[in-house]
Amino acid sequence: MTCKDCGKAMDHLQHKESMDSLGVPLCERHTRLIKKVILDNNTPIDAIHLFYALKEAGVHPMLEWWDGKKSVDIAISRVKLNIEIDKNYSMITHEQAINDLEDAMHSFKNGFTTIRIPHLAIKYYLDETVENILGIISGLKANIKAI
Ligand SMILES: [Zn+2]
Repeated sequence: MTCKDCGKAMDHLQHKESMDSLGVPLCERHTRLIKKVILDNNTPIDAIHLFYALKEAGVHPMLEWWDGKKSVDIAISRVKLNIEIDKNYSMITHEQAINDLEDAMHSFKNGFTTIRIPHLAIKYYLDETVENILGIISGLKANIKAI
């Protein structure tokens, strides 16, 4: 058993502890680091799962990336892609809805594309979600080349 972040070997206990708390096999250090990120940013657990799935797919994602105004759940800087995880559509207020759209507009003006992914897609269709993001990344790469 190895840590999904650094590849360091770990024992059964650590494996169980990280799987129980985060759902990702991580060494003691990385379990602590990720828990701190969650505490500091209120990061949804689905963002952690997507982050490591993207890493595994060969993408270089950044978790809770500060864009100068706000923290983005996951950013892929090479293609200027911001990924926000939508927690619960039914819980969203109308102020939040228009704020989200304004944030997306500001990011877009700075050359960033923002996509919002419902947490349920990550929870139930992680592989398909990663596939679609890979498709978006290659589309963005093609656009960058075209300019
Ligand atoms: Zn580690």
